[in-house]
Amino acid sequence: MSFDRVLGQKEAKKILGDELDSGRISHAYLFVGKKGLGKKEMAYEFVKALLCGSEGLEGCGDCIICRKIEHNNHADVRLLTLEEESSSIKISQIREMQKELVYKPYESEQKVYIIDHADQMTPQAANSLLRTLEEPPDYAVLILFAEEINQLLPTIISRCQQIFFYNVESEKISQKLQQEGSPPQKADLYSRLADGSPGQARELKEDADFLEKRNRILDFVSDLPHKKRVEIFSEAEQIKKMLDEGFPLFNLISGWYRDIILYIEGQKNQIVNVDYMSDIKEKKEQYTAAEINNFLEDIQKTKEDVKRNVNKELALDVLFIRLCSGR
Ligand SMILES: [Zn+2]
Repeated sequence: MSFDRVLGQKEAKKILGDELDSGRISHAYLFVGKKGLGKKEMAYEFVKALLCGSEGLEGCGDCIICRKIEHNNHADVRLLTLEEESSSIKISQIREMQKELVYKPYESEQKVYIIDHADQMTPQAANSLLRTLEEPPDYAVLILFAEEINQLLPTIISRCQQIFFYNVESEKISQKLQQEGSPPQKADLYSRLADGSPGQARELKEDADFLEKRNRILDFVSDLPHKKRVEIFSEAEQIKKMLDEGFPLFNLISGWYRDIILYIEGQKNQIVNVDYMSDIKEKKEQYTAAEINNFLEDIQKTKEDVKRNVNKELALDVLFIRLCSGR
């Protein structure tokens, strides 16, 4: 295993490869990108490359050092993440790290701390971390992960080497899933629904009930103009539960409406929900592309509202009522 393990992310691989090549390793890196793009895999491969004893720029993946890193039991590599039931990285966690950082590495030249959810640090934790970033011990390497860079203190950002992670093309994700044994049609569907995130596509693949849930949602949305309000509200309650479990509801619904536009525009080969082709064909008579674009805006807005923790059930009720209109 090596950097190849991470799908896409050419730029990140180039930057990290150059650092390894020149031997000038930064004290702090900030990996920025949404969930599932490979930040963690990349960090682990980078750390292996850094600490692995064998020849070559990348980690061999086979030696005792690489294996310890992979299994999270290397004494000089620590992963700091959210504690159970907690939604932020606390100052006590940062202080613990600082206490350990005083001691030199045990097995290697470097001591690595990977901080997951660095954009979810409490202000106290962030200020405390800043002190470490200002004066890191020679042997310290910190790798911070963030989904939202603007949630971080500018003073933290400026002390890190920033590395951005980007969406991966759905064809590439599909190919990868097929290599891992998924049938082509399913691999294609999962990768299109994953919105550029290989990790998300893999989660969909591993969720045994995914297709059933997806069919239920598509049947519901497709039938919305004929539904009574009570029916909509009661279904919205169930759908909220799926959303709480991490179901990619909004991607799924936008995909459905985008498919109708693709049909209207004669780009049938790009349609995601190919198994719903006859429904999509029927729907194209009911809407104009402009109406559907309004729907897509409503869906995007609701997605953002829900992320900001507004009342989810109410937000879904309002969205579904809007989506009811049609000819
Ligand atoms: Zn190795």
